[in-house]
Formats: sequence, structure tokens, C-alpha cells
Amino acid sequence: MTESTAGPAARTRPARPRAVLSVLSREQLSPHTVRITAGGPGFEALRMNEFTDKYAKIIFADAGVTRTYTLRRADPAGQQVTIDFVVHGDAGIAAPWAARAEAGDVLTMSGAGGAYRPDPDCDWHLFAGDESALPAICAALEALPADARGLAYLETSDPGEYLDAKPPSGVEISWLHRPEPGRKPGLLAEALLAGPWPAGRADVFAHGERESMKAIRRALKSRLRDGDQVSLSGYWAAGRTEDVFQSEKREPIGKV
Ligand SMILES: Cc1cc2nc3c(=O)[nH]c(=O)nc-3n(C[C@H](O)[C@H](O)[C@H](O)COP(=O)(O)OP(=O)(O)OC[C@H]3O[C@@H](n4cnc5c(N)ncnc54)[C@H](O)[C@@H]3O)c2cc1C
Repeated sequence: MTESTAGPAARTRPARPRAVLSVLSREQLSPHTVRITAGGPGFEALRMNEFTDKYAKIIFADAGVTRTYTLRRADPAGQQVTIDFVVHGDAGIAAPWAARAEAGDVLTMSGAGGAYRPDPDCDWHLFAGDESALPAICAALEALPADARGLAYLETSDPGEYLDAKPPSGVEISWLHRPEPGRKPGLLAEALLAGPWPAGRADVFAHGERESMKAIRRALKSRLRDGDQVSLSGYWAAGRTEDVFQSEKREPIGKV
């Protein structure tokens, strides 16, 4: 089994150039998700990569902090990025910003990082994640060949949540609902254990709330075989700001 995890750039790396973009539009994708499209010549400061989970660090200059977001779409020709923000209430910096963003607002970021794209040499694909991972999962589903096979377990608060991607017909989508994010950390792992595990090499992409990812890690122990591939990490942690979540990665509680 090989493993890759998306994560923040190592501390020793030189600072990446900052891309200063202008918000072009805000769209309410679902009750708890807002899509921001931003662009402009500042796009040239972003270095694109081939990964479907490519992400950028959004820099909030006033607060001097960063928040990590998947680039759901990046269009070098049009110099535009599209980011889907989970709007999780008034707490935090990024989500409240996205909920109120207007055309012309400045959006500064650096990137892109990334570590995963679906491996065409694997026999099937397993996706598991919550709303925060939906953009990366949708990007991966779009990158799959038409004859790809797989399972996707998607955890959400919104019964009306929809998939902003057309998966191949061989990928079975299961929506799992809970009242609030972070309240049922066993939900994805239980579904995964109760579900089928097709034969052949698996390519696993699992990201979302930290405790939920720990439960998936435990569940996968009885499932994974030699040759399977895994991309598994927390994207956020209940009750933690991103700064605390990132710093805890060096402590036992932060290890997924
Ligand atoms: C590689 C990577 C890619 C990511 N891609 C995306 C993405 O495309 N879209 C996206 O929405 N998020 C994404 N995330 C998660 C996002 O970085 C965090 O949710 C981040 O904490 C949001 O910052 P904030 O300022 O809104 O809240 P913070 O200030 O960090 O936290 C404030 C409070 O809100 C809670 N909180 C944070 N996120 C959530 C959530 N999703 N649901 C409920 N409560 C939450 C925290 O636990 C805390 O109590 C990604 C994370 C990583 C590491």
C-alpha cells in the first residue's frame, strides 16, 4: 500500500509568490456552499499542477492568516479560479468572507499544492469525504475515464446537496446525511465497512473532518491489500480553527 497526503507546504520551502485576484462572482451552490470565481492577471503568480486535489493558501492580510482551499477549477487561459467554500456559520475567517464576498473584492492566494489524481492503473476508486472534500472529489470524478469503476461515500448536512460533476456510470454514489458537520465522525467509516469492497487494486481518496478520517483509517486496516493506494488526511477539525488544526498535526491528537 502506498500513501500520499495533501498537506501544507513544508515550512522550509521558500515563500510562494502571491496571486492577487479580483472576485468576479459569488453563487449559492447549495444551502451551505458558496462558489467564488476570481481572476485577473494576478493568476500568473499561481503555478498549476496536474493534481485533481490542487489547493491554494488564501491569504487574509488583515488577520495575517491563511486558509487552505481546493481549486475546484483553474483556467489558465481565462486566468480564473473557482473555489467552493463551505459556509459553516459566523465562526472563522474564510467562510464568513465567502458568504459576503462581492464582485471586485480582492482575493489573495499562493499555490498550488496537491498530491493526488486518480491512478488509471488501479482497478477501482474509492472516495470518502464531507462537504469540504466535495470540490476535490468532483474534480477527481471528472478526471476519471468513462469506464472507471468505484464507490463514493459523501457526507453532508444538506439533503438537497448535489454533485457538481457527472461521474462515470460505474461509480456508485452514496449520500450520507447528518445534522451538523463533525457530529457523527463514524458515519463514513461505518458505511465503508458495510459496503462492498470490489476485487482488484483500490485507489482511495478520503478527506474531511479529522476524527472522521481517523475512523476511516481504522476501517481501512481490514480492507486494504498490497498494491492499494491511499490519499487520506484531515481537511479540518471540529472545534479548531485552521491554525490550531495545522499546528496539532505535530501532536498525537493531530495524527490521522
Ligand atoms: C488541502 C485542503 C483543501 C481544502 N479544500 C476545501 C474546499 O474546497 N472547501 C472548503 O469549504 N473547505 C476546504 N478545506 C477546509 C478548510 O480549509 C477549513 O474548513 C478551514 O478551517 C475553513 O476556515 P474558516 O476560516 O472558515 O474557519 P476556521 O477559522 O478555520 O474555524 C472556525 C470554526 O469553524 C469550524 N469549521 C471549519 N471548517 C468547517 C467545516 N467545513 N464545517 C463545519 N465547521 C467548520 C472549525 O472547527 C472552528 O470551530 C480544505 C482543507 C485542506 C487542508
